[in-house]
Amino acid sequence: MAREPSAEEILRAVEQHVSRHGISARLTSPGTADLSWQSLLDCRIVRSIETRDERSMKDKGRRADLAERPTYTDLAEHPVDPPADPDTSQRLELVLLGSLDEVPCEGCEGGRKECVACRGRGGRACPEFVKCDGCGGGIDACWDCDGTGRPRPRGKPTEPRPAGAPQRVRCVRCHRPDSACPTCLGRGRTDCTVCKGAGFVECQSCKGAGRVKHVQCGGAGLFTTWTGAVISHAPEVKTVEEPAPLYLRRPRDATAKGHWHGTTLTSTTDKLPDDLAPEHRAMIAPHLSVKENEVGRRVTLRHLPLARVTAHADPDRVYFAFPSRTGIEVVERPSRQRVVHFTAIGSAAVAVAVLVLVLVATVLN
Ligand SMILES: [Zn+2]
Ligand SMILES: [Zn+2]
Ligand SMILES: [Zn+2]
Ligand SMILES: [Zn+2]
Ligand SMILES: [Zn+2]
Repeated sequence: MAREPSAEEILRAVEQHVSRHGISARLTSPGTADLSWQSLLDCRIVRSIETRDERSMKDKGRRADLAERPTYTDLAEHPVDPPADPDTSQRLELVLLGSLDEVPCEGCEGGRKECVACRGRGGRACPEFVKCDGCGGGIDACWDCDGTGRPRPRGKPTEPRPAGAPQRVRCVRCHRPDSACPTCLGRGRTDCTVCKGAGFVECQSCKGAGRVKHVQCGGAGLFTTWTGAVISHAPEVKTVEEPAPLYLRRPRDATAKGHWHGTTLTSTTDKLPDDLAPEHRAMIAPHLSVKENEVGRRVTLRHLPLARVTAHADPDRVYFAFPSRTGIEVVERPSRQRVVHFTAIGSAAVAVAVLVLVLVATVLN
């Protein structure tokens, strides 16, 4: 039904419903029924709130992209359209006209700094040779020349070789066979494994360059400076509700079946609909004043007239009536009086049961 039902129409619908229970009463006659309105409301107010922030900016390196950004001269006066839908967030970044500049980095030279790990040397000195760990670097390097290169005179017997000693090789210094340490071949020392005999180890941090990229300026040797602004729009939502009572929220009841009256307001000058109940108007009105920095709004509002009816001839039931697509829908619920009555019967039954048990127990004893 397209318009609000009158109290009389509601009562007539309930009257028809009541007759199903075999109760015939003229509910429209004075003193036969009570009707009170408990209409439902569902209202969502979304505002687009604008903020404008300006600040000095500094970023490492060259920011070529900033030249592409839109510019402004007076932030407060800069025209920006709010989003068409106030539920949408929007963010616009701007650059103050003429503020874009580049300053050299004071912490480096051309984006490079001396390497802290090697103090700019690119590495460190390292011994070329180390003592042979096979023979200890002493006289055991060669049993003929003791690692000196000058073999003992022939005929002079050497000490007997210890049993199980590793195989000896030809000495590179005295050239006697079967006498030198197999690890150093009689030299008594081996190449350093760290520098591989080079005498110098490259710095890991700068890979030998002695200089590293300056992190603060990103290795660019300069910073980009500008005055930037952000104009943003964000939705701010407020909901005002008079929800359906729990017993009407089940599917196919008032919230789903009812013919809600809907309205959408998009401007601060739009008026609330005339058919809105005064209490709903009073609930919504305080939330409609124009907020600071509000640049757009949408108020989505729907309400469903809902009447609570009791018929004096039928005290066990309460009727809820509301307009639906097909006419006036009536939903019935047991009245509180009836619920209390049943609860009382239930309690009485429990009391009787307890009494019987006590009696039985007494008899058995
Ligand atoms: Zn730098
Ligand atoms: Zn280094
Ligand atoms: Zn070394
Ligand atoms: Zn030797
Ligand atoms: Zn050796």
